[in-house]
Amino acid sequence: MQRRPTRKIYIGGVAVGGDAPVSVQSMTNTRTADIPATISQIERLAAAGCDIVRVAIPDMEAAAAIEVIKENSRLPVVADIHFDYRLALAVMERGVDALRLNPGNIGDGENVSKVVTQAKKRRIPIRIGVNAGSLDKRLLHLHGGKVTPEAMVASALEHIALLEKHDFYDIKVSLKAHDVPLTLKAYRLMSEAVDYPLHIGITEAGTVRSGIIKSAVGIGALLAAGIGDTIRVSLTGDPVEEVRTANEILKSLNLRQYGPTLVSCPTCGRTGINLVDLAHQVEDKLATIQKPITVAVMGCVVNGPGEAREADIGIAGGKGQGVLFRKGKIIRTVPEDQLLSELIKEIEQLAKED
Ligand code: SF4
Repeated sequence: MQRRPTRKIYIGGVAVGGDAPVSVQSMTNTRTADIPATISQIERLAAAGCDIVRVAIPDMEAAAAIEVIKENSRLPVVADIHFDYRLALAVMERGVDALRLNPGNIGDGENVSKVVTQAKKRRIPIRIGVNAGSLDKRLLHLHGGKVTPEAMVASALEHIALLEKHDFYDIKVSLKAHDVPLTLKAYRLMSEAVDYPLHIGITEAGTVRSGIIKSAVGIGALLAAGIGDTIRVSLTGDPVEEVRTANEILKSLNLRQYGPTLVSCPTCGRTGINLVDLAHQVEDKLATIQKPITVAVMGCVVNGPGEAREADIGIAGGKGQGVLFRKGKIIRTVPEDQLLSELIKEIEQLAKED
């Protein structure tokens, strides 16, 4: 998979774009001014494999909280700001790592100049985030009254021009919509127009089930086309689920090795053990492990031995029993009621090894 070349920028210590690996972002859904709750959620996101976190800055109370949040966050923190340039100045003074701000929405040129001057001085990148739901009315009118990919790109280019006017190029861009084909086209056009790193995602993708599917299709299609330097899965739910999903998307395209991979068959009329329950229990166990091991839970001798042999640890089910594999070799045959405990024993042992 060839990735589209982009400029490299740094969000805190995390490289984005260029030859840097695709990074995972999420956003806290605590009240940012509630410092303990926000710090604790950032820690859960970090533990789940998040690289960069964004927090909403709706007011000065939230902006003031950034200093302590930064001191306690092991992830770079991006401040999400709309309309009020003073909030941007306040969070930059308090050590934020990046801004998510559209310069066209913070008033006259003088406000933009104040923000850019500080961002340059402190080497703080700015993400321009165009959202289909809040596209400028003038641009909508120019594009036939509809949100089109071209209108979204035109909006991003206008915001970019406001920054470039001040010789500011530490820019990242996102163009999000809940409609997958619209999002795909917008990012394709954008990637032809500029070489700034792109933050990709399907916004307002819905609740966990539908949101995961839309995000996997949209983000997956873009990444497979070489587009995307950071990703965010947007779900109505716990942001930790966003991070887990984002990591699974990257893993499925071999763009990241993070945590274990479970290979399990869909089961069929040949399955001789209760494989569905077994696979779910193994999945729960694997969620507690960070080592990138592959575990195969297979129902029978048709595809089972092949997959189990390929995995680090595997089971190929038979009638009321299963054959246990480790690193391609059969280690023993286990009765069904001991399959889970034996698999867990092997997984724990492998997780401990160097
Ligand atoms: S591995 Fe065996 S049990 Fe599982 S789906 Fe394939 S044929 Fe059916």
